[in-house]
Amino acid sequence: MDFALSQEEEIFRRNLREFLGRSLRPRVGEIEERGIPRDFVLGASSVGLWAMPVSEEVGGQGASWLETAVAAEEVGRADFTLATAVMFLLEASWGYVLDSRGSDELRGAVLPKVTSGEWFLGVASTEPQGGSDVAAIRTSARRDGDHYSVTGQKMYISGGMEARSWGGGHLLLAKTDASAGHRGISMFYLPASSPGLSMGPIRNMGRSGISTVSMYLDDVAIPAGNLVGRENEGFYYAMDGFNRARVLVSAACLGAADAVLEIGLDHLRNREAFGHRLRDFQSLSFEAADLSTRLEMAKLLTYEAAWAVDRAAEDRSIADRAITLAAMAKLTGPQVAHDVMKSVIMWMGALGYSRDALVEAGFRGAMSYVAGAEGALNVMRLIISRRILG
Ligand SMILES: Cc1cc2nc3c(=O)[nH]c(=O)nc-3n(C[C@H](O)[C@H](O)[C@H](O)COP(=O)(O)OP(=O)(O)OC[C@H]3O[C@@H](n4cnc5c(N)ncnc54)[C@H](O)[C@@H]3O)c2cc1C
Repeated sequence: MDFALSQEEEIFRRNLREFLGRSLRPRVGEIEERGIPRDFVLGASSVGLWAMPVSEEVGGQGASWLETAVAAEEVGRADFTLATAVMFLLEASWGYVLDSRGSDELRGAVLPKVTSGEWFLGVASTEPQGGSDVAAIRTSARRDGDHYSVTGQKMYISGGMEARSWGGGHLLLAKTDASAGHRGISMFYLPASSPGLSMGPIRNMGRSGISTVSMYLDDVAIPAGNLVGRENEGFYYAMDGFNRARVLVSAACLGAADAVLEIGLDHLRNREAFGHRLRDFQSLSFEAADLSTRLEMAKLLTYEAAWAVDRAAEDRSIADRAITLAAMAKLTGPQVAHDVMKSVIMWMGALGYSRDALVEAGFRGAMSYVAGAEGALNVMRLIISRRILG
């Protein structure tokens, strides 16, 4: 068993960390206030950051999931509010789904614009009545000649405003057979500029640098060519995308936790109280030791999940294990990040609570993945418990 990344992967990580440390980390405050800078998004395409697992013929890197997880960790480390990581992991995961299931025409029309940073690509699954039970969605798509007529509502959708202003859209789930449960769901590429599609902003607790919206679809005509893969198979494509995204969520959260822990450790090293540095109080240094250990454990689990996703593509016998590990990673990474960030805020006292230190922005960002983004924690427990109990 080899716990080291390959030499190429290490070089890739080092170069990316250097690039993001220079171009993204100094702008965390700006991202929190005004959103992910457009010049960063366009510039980062030079290092192949966007939708990196998609094939080279449509502008991607054909990156493995392990490489993509390493990149997610570095993006989270640089922008620990997690806004940029949200964009990174949506484009990687849903770009992958579009690349592997979409027609050549659709792939060619959308993915080169996504990999170049010009367009945003996200996913629109959740509806007002709930997100965990994907099979219960109500948005309907009816075939009408050369297009589908789509009506319904989507809720808590990341990146709606970015897709509106930059270009791009979302992979939308809709019912093409209302009587067939999850077997009646299809996936479509929904351009954000579609007539009949309106959006409203949702104000969130954190990750303010990227929008979250509600979407209203009033008889939106989606060209038949925008159907991803086959009719009524969208649920399976979505589960593939979510499983993959969950590994990246964990990696991004752990990168962010690493960055915030480093800030906290510096504080423990330098701050004095009652004539001692904080590091000399074992209640704090032991807490730091516990958190650092949990972070390390969560990273190993996340790397194993990414490795299993890659292996499952060649060896179907571990496909189920990859799903379990991805759920375990999503269950673990955000909670570890949450706990690390909360402790660092406590160590820093009033400074930790202030917006100036930005640590609280990391805490609010990580909380999105504890609360439900990319799947609620209890849904991860459902996936795991069903598999371990049989
Ligand atoms: C910041 C943010 C961004 C998001 N971006 C997107 C996006 O881009 N696209 C998208 O489609 N969705 C997005 N979502 C929605 C996300 O996918 C949902 O929050 C998630 O699927 C959970 O759905 P829900 O919030 O409706 O909670 P519900 O499904 O209503 O669940 C509520 C609670 O009940 C628990 N629960 C549900 N079922 C069970 C069960 N069987 N057993 C035990 N407990 C259960 C859940 O764990 C949760 O705590 C986003 C969410 C957030 C917070």
